[in-house]
Amino acid sequence: MVKFFIDPGHGGIDSGAVGNGLQEKNLTLQISKNIRDILNEYENVQVKLSREGDETLSLTQRTDAANSWRADYLLSVHINSGGGTGFEDYIYPTASSDAVKYQNVIHAEIKKEVDFQDRGKKKANFHMIRESKMPSILTENGFIDHPSDAAKLKQQSYIERIALGHVNGLVRAFNLQEKEPKPPMWDGLELHKEQIGRIRILKRINLWKRDANDQLVFVRILQPGEVYRVYGYDDLYFGQYDVGDNHWITKIDGYIKYETPSKALLKKANEFYQ
Ligand SMILES: [Zn+2]
Repeated sequence: MVKFFIDPGHGGIDSGAVGNGLQEKNLTLQISKNIRDILNEYENVQVKLSREGDETLSLTQRTDAANSWRADYLLSVHINSGGGTGFEDYIYPTASSDAVKYQNVIHAEIKKEVDFQDRGKKKANFHMIRESKMPSILTENGFIDHPSDAAKLKQQSYIERIALGHVNGLVRAFNLQEKEPKPPMWDGLELHKEQIGRIRILKRINLWKRDANDQLVFVRILQPGEVYRVYGYDDLYFGQYDVGDNHWITKIDGYIKYETPSKALLKKANEFYQ
């Protein structure tokens, strides 16, 4: 399990930098939540945000939270101001070799996703990267007071790309694996490819196999309570359900109960298996 502590810079009475109708605290929260959402698509990852809303938090409260949670990595997200343009990131001047390695990878991956000017990988004596006990980074994602940087930060798609760049960096740095997509479940059982329904056996009934000439060959007797996936139906032998591998159960009222999944579930299954 890898624990990522994501810190959306500023918040509450501290708006951070402002400019061009934007407030830093809102942008850092949007980026951080996007980072969390994308990270949740990876295996063995835990994500904690220093704030979920527009809360006022001191810097010490933030690093205390990361330290007591025993995060493996701290990422503090900021937007720059002061008359420049582009993105840069910071680690502490005496940061560990791991922190240096992670900065190299994260910086490179953000650069691939955004077309901000690259101001470089930097070092500084900032509270967030000094007082956190784990490797950490502080990113400055564009200048809020620069017209073209601000225009980019106003686009939701650009915010998502900034987040994706951060995540791609974390994925490479920590060798994260994407979660396997899972087939949809229907009452606790996987819906199989091309399944259209299921049969519950109510009374003992024969299971048939059809031979090359569509003649029935007895297989065995099915017992009450058993459930079989259904892949089709046809009118042969007064109506039979296809339960897979050319095995068939005859439709006899009172002996079986046939049920179908919801259309929404079938749609999900189609999407999964296509
Ligand atoms: Zn800031």
